[in-house]
Amino acid sequence: MAEHISRKGIRVKKNQSVIEAMQSMIPHWDHEKIEDPSYVLGFRYARTCRCSVCGYVSSFEKPVCPHCQTKMKNLAGL
Ligand SMILES: [Zn+2]
Repeated sequence: MAEHISRKGIRVKKNQSVIEAMQSMIPHWDHEKIEDPSYVLGFRYARTCRCSVCGYVSSFEKPVCPHCQTKMKNLAGL
């Protein structure tokens, strides 16, 4: 699938999956996991999210990071 990305020279670290390596290259909002026993998985994702490029914390996912102006991608389709 993401062949256009791998041609750019993707680097996969030893303890990293290809998906994780691709995600770290693509600008996106990172949601922190919060432990919550009332959820089936034992955690939930925080509503606040952090820009993977500059680390700016936003209260919700914006199409463009207001701090570094990076256009954000939705990783759900990967
Ligand atoms: Zn940013």
